[in-house]
Amino acid sequence: MTAPALTLHDRALGAYLGFAMGDALGATAEFMTAGEIAGTYKGGLRNIVGGGWLHLKPGKVTDDTQMCLALGDALLAARGWDLHMVADAFVGWMRSKPPDIGHACRRGIRRYVLEGSLCAPPSEDNAGNGALMRNLPVSLVTLGDAALFARCTLEQAHLTHHHPLSDAATLLLGQLTQTLLLGGSISDCRRCVSETLALYPKFRFEPWPGNTSGYVVDTVQTVLHAFFRHDSVESCIVDVVNRGGDADTAGALVGQLAGACYGVQDIPARWLKQLDRGIAERLRRQTAALLSLPAPLPLRGRPAAPPPPDPVLSVA
Ligand code: MN
Ligand code: MN
Repeated sequence: MTAPALTLHDRALGAYLGFAMGDALGATAEFMTAGEIAGTYKGGLRNIVGGGWLHLKPGKVTDDTQMCLALGDALLAARGWDLHMVADAFVGWMRSKPPDIGHACRRGIRRYVLEGSLCAPPSEDNAGNGALMRNLPVSLVTLGDAALFARCTLEQAHLTHHHPLSDAATLLLGQLTQTLLLGGSISDCRRCVSETLALYPKFRFEPWPGNTSGYVVDTVQTVLHAFFRHDSVESCIVDVVNRGGDADTAGALVGQLAGACYGVQDIPARWLKQLDRGIAERLRRQTAALLSLPAPLPLRGRPAAPPPPDPVLSVA
């Protein structure tokens, strides 16, 4: 008997909950090495137990899921795309004293508060994971509209991260997510990845170079390597978080892809039980609400000032 086909809602909720599972599981191992994780957890880290450098309660999530939720709330409040509202949502999040916040995110949000500017100046040290990790709500509300997806993705990314590799990584992961949400296959994803690798060979991931820092190149390589090797949400996330490094962010991103691919039904029941109830409820409500926003998504508010021209940054 074949399983019933997954609906868009199954895939979208799978992506959002899968993302949070990777964050909640991976937070325990963030900044540890694979050897340290293997020495601490017999058989590998497989259950959401909290702890880690943030001393989280089991089931709590970190900046990755919280920034997605803030961005999603801004989309729902605007019932469309309003970059000022997105920036204001990030300000509100930063003022809520989150457990952690990345360096470039803090600097970008502070710049917006002090200067009102919606676009970070291009910078060599803006190639961290901050923009990449919070783009799932944009992927959900621009389904089937490649131009709008790219515009909203780059605008939200440039609030804090302005670097060609961050842009390329954020666009690629979003394109893969949308391909899967719309029922595309793993081979469709492979084709999409090949196109990006032709332009940005730095992202080549086979063989896996073995780096797990918060640099977008390391993260994209780790996430793609695991995603194409496994065939379930659990195996994708467990593999990635046990590699250590930026384990919560890479775990969240592979959870996003695997959840979109295999659906919410494939998320282990024990993880769903372990995830913080309030967060799970917000993710469920936001997923349904984001999917019901009008398409095409209305553009609201003043457009962002055109960004300063890109200096020549190293992408080769
Ligand atoms: Mn985090
Ligand atoms: Mn992280």
